[in-house]
Amino acid sequence: MTIGIWILGNQLHLEQSALLSCQHNKQKTPVIFIESLNYIKKRPYHQQKLVLVFSAMRHFAEELKLQGWPVTYEINKDFESSLNYWIKKNNITELRLVTPYDRPFLRLIESFKLDCKIQFITNNHFLWTQAEFKQWTDSRKRLLLEDFYREGRKRFNILMKHNKPIGGQWNFDKQNRKPPKKGLNTPTPLEFEADKITQQVIKDINSYQITTYGKIESFKWGVTRSQALQILDNFIENNLNNFGTYQDAMITGEYTLWHSLISPYINLGLLTPLEVITAIDNAYYEFDYPLNSVEGLIRQILGWREYMYGIYQIMDDDYAQKNWFNHQEKLPEFYWDSSKTDMNCLKQSLQQVEETGYAHHIQRLMVLGNFGLIVGVSPQAINNWFHSAFIDAYDWVMVPNVIGMGQFADGGILASKPYAASANYINKMSDYCKSCVYKQTQRTGNQACPFNFFYWDFLSRHQQQLRGLGRMNLILANLKKMDKVELEKIQLQAQKWRESN
Ligand SMILES: Cc1cc2nc3c(=O)[nH]c(=O)nc-3n(C[C@H](O)[C@H](O)[C@H](O)COP(=O)(O)OP(=O)(O)OC[C@H]3O[C@@H](n4cnc5c(N)ncnc54)[C@H](O)[C@@H]3O)c2cc1C
Ligand code: SF4
Repeated sequence: MTIGIWILGNQLHLEQSALLSCQHNKQKTPVIFIESLNYIKKRPYHQQKLVLVFSAMRHFAEELKLQGWPVTYEINKDFESSLNYWIKKNNITELRLVTPYDRPFLRLIESFKLDCKIQFITNNHFLWTQAEFKQWTDSRKRLLLEDFYREGRKRFNILMKHNKPIGGQWNFDKQNRKPPKKGLNTPTPLEFEADKITQQVIKDINSYQITTYGKIESFKWGVTRSQALQILDNFIENNLNNFGTYQDAMITGEYTLWHSLISPYINLGLLTPLEVITAIDNAYYEFDYPLNSVEGLIRQILGWREYMYGIYQIMDDDYAQKNWFNHQEKLPEFYWDSSKTDMNCLKQSLQQVEETGYAHHIQRLMVLGNFGLIVGVSPQAINNWFHSAFIDAYDWVMVPNVIGMGQFADGGILASKPYAASANYINKMSDYCKSCVYKQTQRTGNQACPFNFFYWDFLSRHQQQLRGLGRMNLILANLKKMDKVELEKIQLQAQKWRESN
């Protein structure tokens, strides 16, 4: 019997479960990587995402060769035919791979006609297995992130003392919503020059006849585990101290603030969640960093990241098609081209995504996602855009974040109320409104901010459904008090905007 291992682009870790299972016989275990041109034609991916994934795969393949694994690397090929050719050539009787994290990709593999048996190995890239998460959900009446996060803290003994949370509280989020102020001394992100392998990938991508999104020239991401570790060290040394306090702030021209920038690496397997959490936990004791920052970051990974993956796993395949508000509008064209909007918050966020493939959480949720939600854009259209545009986008993480959290299309499985907001929020948390052609205080008229008329239009369109959520009652009471003539003007302006965009 000959086992052959297929390594997917987001499973790039030496200790991933398929490699571990054959470690004892590595010289005799063929390994294959495939870059499929057909697959990347499926959507207009950000060019930097393609560079990152392919370059990280090529570097990882080199690392495996050095370790003695017989590696085959196919470029610009088709998955199924490459696999069958390699299976035959190496007399492989069992194709082994870590179960893909993304369901559409798993379904694709299941549809292949392969000339040998296929064996999926349970992934060890998340802290909770599907079975463990399911067990947790079965024991609960409500699936609150906060409950799940506390369970994780106890289970992995992170920021705990004598079975109690350090600092006497589980969550310091209230301290983590400071608006930006003038003269903040923000850290410079760690960037890398393209080496020979990356330069070749850029050449390859440029030579393909494919539709893509974003810019390729400004590629500065790390592509190896060692660079990913440098990103983590740099974050701990220079950013972690202030990470919590300004976590939700947005500043013109400041793309990354104190955020970690680790999502591209952790999602590819170049970093593991436990090593990141352990490093942050250790830094708390070593450098005496503020607890709101340390706890804030640990909650993102031990809490949110694991929770989103768990929810994705237990939901049916049709979760991605949910549309609780029955939103059917098309995505405004400017999402694909930032020069086509004069709304400053959207322009700034979109420009940055075009240049880097990155925006931080609040830009994703409260600017890009929020606008789609209040306009009434189809959740699937928004999800498709996020999937194309972001450097760290994968089905397992986007479906819960975009469909569930950002668009509330699941009707409240993931969030207890929609993340809908007017210009008030954006003005409080950013400096964008100061240089905008629209007035953040106006709801109607030529200079009215579209976030305002769409916000009230959204509330009025869906007030029946929203009333059932409880947490929206205060704001719905304000809607009720609104002058009828003003509400009609708002609705008319919203409709006109939709028709002209
Ligand atoms: C609409 C929307 C779309 C998103 N799309 C993606 C996506 O495609 N890929 C992606 O990895 N994350 C996504 N997120 C989650 C989060 O915004 C990003 O993980 C984060 O902004 C990445 O930047 P960072 O590494 O600097 O994060 P930091 O702010 O430094 O946070 C640290 C880490 O925590 C984890 N994390 C934090 N929040 C989440 C979350 N909600 N879900 C999963 N992991 C989380 C990530 O691994 C992140 O790297 C999305 C969120 C929203 C609201
Ligand atoms: S005024 Fe409105 S459109 Fe302009 S930056 Fe502020 S929120 Fe965005």
